[in-house]
Amino acid sequence: MTKTYQNLIGGELVSTADTMEVLNPANEEVIGLVPSCGKDELDRAVAAARTAFKTWSKTPIDDRRAVIQAMAGAIKENADELFRLLTSEQGKPHDQAKGEIYGAAGMMSAQSTLSLDDEINEDSDQRLSRTRRVPVGVVGGIVPWNFPVMMAMQKIAPALLSGCTIVLKPSPFTPLATLRIAELIKDIAPAGVVNIITGEDTLGPLITEHPDIDKITFTGSTATGKKIMEGASKDLKRITLELGGNDASIVLPDADVQKVAEQLFWSSFSNAGQICVAAKRIYIHEDIYDELSAAIAEVAKNVVVGDGAQQGTGVGPIQNKKQFDRVCELIQDAKDNGYKFLTGGNVDPSGTGYYVPITIMDNPPEDARIVAEEQFGPVMPLMKFSTTDEVIERANNSEYGLAGAVWTKDTDKGVEIAEQLETGTVWINEFLHLSPFAPFGGHKQSGFGAEYGKEGLSEFTYPQVITIKKDAAV
Ligand code: NAD
Repeated sequence: MTKTYQNLIGGELVSTADTMEVLNPANEEVIGLVPSCGKDELDRAVAAARTAFKTWSKTPIDDRRAVIQAMAGAIKENADELFRLLTSEQGKPHDQAKGEIYGAAGMMSAQSTLSLDDEINEDSDQRLSRTRRVPVGVVGGIVPWNFPVMMAMQKIAPALLSGCTIVLKPSPFTPLATLRIAELIKDIAPAGVVNIITGEDTLGPLITEHPDIDKITFTGSTATGKKIMEGASKDLKRITLELGGNDASIVLPDADVQKVAEQLFWSSFSNAGQICVAAKRIYIHEDIYDELSAAIAEVAKNVVVGDGAQQGTGVGPIQNKKQFDRVCELIQDAKDNGYKFLTGGNVDPSGTGYYVPITIMDNPPEDARIVAEEQFGPVMPLMKFSTTDEVIERANNSEYGLAGAVWTKDTDKGVEIAEQLETGTVWINEFLHLSPFAPFGGHKQSGFGAEYGKEGLSEFTYPQVITIKKDAAV
């Protein structure tokens, strides 16, 4: 029988009369039912978070750290069950799902060690001025479907560490592993500190505009990010937005073709390309273009596209029908324009499951939709360039500015290029590495603010300056 999951509100697991179906993208079968919350449930969750904030914000930070670490421990202890559930709802192969579950637990533990110490602004004969950080209050967290567990946990951990409480909404497409974690952590955090509620996309705007929520932390598309900014402006809520990207990888002529081919492949095709910081445009120097594009196509030949639960699958299905249709549309547009395919491109629309074959494009023009738009699927355009100045200009010619990579033996040259890229993160000779201790945030339309590191943590706080006049006549 299909399991009906519950939400976590005020320390209790709760159900609603209305439920939503969650599908397995590998076979389109219903694998779970989850509550469909509306305004009433949201009001209850926010009220519980507001009440809990009174005590939680005054709980010593070391006790808060211990709660976060205990949650991470519960996730690790149940990793086996969780990664299988994650594959069934998200589609990613088991090894990648395992990486997400352990990665989320590791990220929580690492983030729990951060601190925001007081800063002395002035210590003179006249006065002592000190800045302390105070928690903003109740946080609304809104999460997408590509890394549902990682994204949820990377919002819960800093919120709790800063002394905030949270109402978190998973994506309606991928709520199951997060709701299973809700069951596991129910008795770890005090009631109301973490609330997890599910609902249709219509629940998002209710969160954004809720008068008793003080901050929104959101990961998702740029289009939704703009709506959130607008909704949050009504009462000037604080916002952190992690949005889309169209990341460029630049391969210089000195790169070792055989060594980088496989890494470049996975920088685009991990999680079936559904990663905000996946390489979505690969620029290869003309001297090595033919050799490297052939080597990447060779890697593709040995990678199996299929059900993530089957051993040997390297690339799973697209997570949902809407995204599947969008990726198919981009491929069709490339065909209609006569662009050349190195591999892939033939989707079977009548098949069960949202499978798109590994698709690699051979030097499409810069204004092709498949280059200019974020594909968010297993589709990668390879493009030829001649000079460094030219490739920097092409890489920066995007409304996005999330991340990028440079591949070269000459790391000084790599840094020189990195410093000219208009993105929040640039990797040299690696990809997709995010550190819990370094701020991660997009430039331009890829985001607003940052997550991770002290900078990310400080976004859950206000600065408060306390000044003591030392020579006051009172
Ligand atoms: P999405 O914007 O459609 O949905 C994200 C979340 O927002 C979901 O929980 C959804 O229910 C909710 N939502 C939808 N409409 C809303 C509204 N009007 N107000 C408030 N909430 C609303 O994004 P998606 O399709 O789930 O995710 C894919 C996108 O996320 C891609 O563009 C990808 O690049 C981006 N992404 C960014 C990062 C990052 O860290 N920068 C990470 C992962 C994904």
